[in-house]
Amino acid sequence: MVRFVIIGGGPAGNTAATYAARLGAEVTLVERDVIGGAAHLWDCIPSKTMIATGGAISFSRRIEGMGLMHQDAHLDIEAQRRRVKEIEAHLHDQLTTLLDSQGVRQLMGTARLTGPHSVVVETEGGTEEIEADAILLATGSRPRIPDWAHPDGVRVLTTRDAYPPPRMPDHLVVIGSGVTGVEFVHMFSSFGAKVTLIVSRQQVLPQKDPEVAAALEDALLRRSVRLFKGARAEMIETGEDGVAVHCDDGRVAKGSHALLAIGSIPNSDGLGLEAAGVQVEGGYIPINHHCQSNVAHIYAAGDVSGKLPLSSVASMQGRKIAEHIMGLHTRFHNHIDYDKAASAIFTEPEIADVGLAETEAFATGRKIRVTKVPYQATAKALINAEPPGFVKIVSDPATGVVLGGSIVGRHAAELISVLALAVTANLKVSDIVESCLVHPSLSEALAEAAE
Ligand SMILES: Cc1cc2nc3c(=O)[nH]c(=O)nc-3n(C[C@H](O)[C@H](O)[C@H](O)COP(=O)(O)OP(=O)(O)OC[C@H]3O[C@@H](n4cnc5c(N)ncnc54)[C@H](O)[C@@H]3O)c2cc1C
Repeated sequence: MVRFVIIGGGPAGNTAATYAARLGAEVTLVERDVIGGAAHLWDCIPSKTMIATGGAISFSRRIEGMGLMHQDAHLDIEAQRRRVKEIEAHLHDQLTTLLDSQGVRQLMGTARLTGPHSVVVETEGGTEEIEADAILLATGSRPRIPDWAHPDGVRVLTTRDAYPPPRMPDHLVVIGSGVTGVEFVHMFSSFGAKVTLIVSRQQVLPQKDPEVAAALEDALLRRSVRLFKGARAEMIETGEDGVAVHCDDGRVAKGSHALLAIGSIPNSDGLGLEAAGVQVEGGYIPINHHCQSNVAHIYAAGDVSGKLPLSSVASMQGRKIAEHIMGLHTRFHNHIDYDKAASAIFTEPEIADVGLAETEAFATGRKIRVTKVPYQATAKALINAEPPGFVKIVSDPATGVVLGGSIVGRHAAELISVLALAVTANLKVSDIVESCLVHPSLSEALAEAAE
């Protein structure tokens, strides 16, 4: 029987554990904090829980447009804290029950490699050494803290202090305008806080399609979010009444709290990688298309592998690793195509995209056909009093194959699934047009954009 040891119980680790055990491996899953990982404890789940509450507040502000009297909804901070914990606890129970049912041994402790085939785990009760035929390093990442910032969990926060913070900010200065930064801007502005966003470039979401980023910037400005564009934070002053974030262009953003959202660093230190001969580059563990490190039986997945830092990608890597270890890759196994991973940004408007972006195609000179339809073209958008949104599809003009797409507007994260399937399965725009979709529904905008 293959002895498989996994370090890290996040999406990469727990998915690999479930699949490998199901396929017949003897699996030990080691976790130092919580099975479910940072994804459950600090990242995807608590952030989306709080954003859902913020979304309910914004919806309550829009109900007048639906023929209802306006009711002002206020946040109950303690109820919110309980809700975040309850959802995490529920998901944790669900996951540990699943792992138990598959016969996965769950070991709480801190693990490190002591050789190519041996892992040592420091547990509350002592030290345990485990021999392994295959090892997965799925240790995730943690927020990046620059040396000029000193988070105290009270006024200067990392994302991990924000679910919710001890006191709700009156005025939050968010440093960093990538996906995490804009989600926190959205979350706290929905709760009624004033927000200033420090944007180091000239566009929020610098990696995204400019049209998509512009739609979000518009919405943020309509919520009175202040944007400090082209400014890099370089110092945070903390006083009795609040914080002052000093930028390199001389501007100072004052607020009651500051929140750092400037990326993450991989958890590869203290893992004993040298003892096993595993290479590291910039803290990440480079992997091949089977997620193997330079040592063939030692795999890496999730944030520590330096690929797309998404929970969905981590889980997919975990599943592929289980298949590879158990020899299934010789039969029905496709490699992960990271360029075809769908992703979403949970703001208002919600944003989701997949595959080739219009700007990427222009940059490489690739010929594409771009079609765009506003949400408002559908009856459902009017019925639901939806704020503006659009669907954009990028396809190959010669074959009609769907190459990518972006959706901006409510339920974008759900609707993108149709385009993700089309991109992965090489479907054509005509396949979407030929699908008889529900009426009235927002998905009709997809069908129209595919025409
Ligand atoms: C604020 C925020 C929101 C996010 N929202 C989303 C989202 O909505 N959707 C999405 O797809 N992605 C989201 N992400 C990204 C997502 O959280 C990560 O990509 C995902 O958690 C990575 O999974 P992982 O398996 O690599 O590790 P993690 O979830 O980071 O888990 C790794 C685990 O390894 C454990 N560990 C580390 N070292 C050791 C050791 N030596 N011994 C034992 N255990 C160890 C850690 O305790 C941790 O529990 C978000 C990220 C952030 C910061």
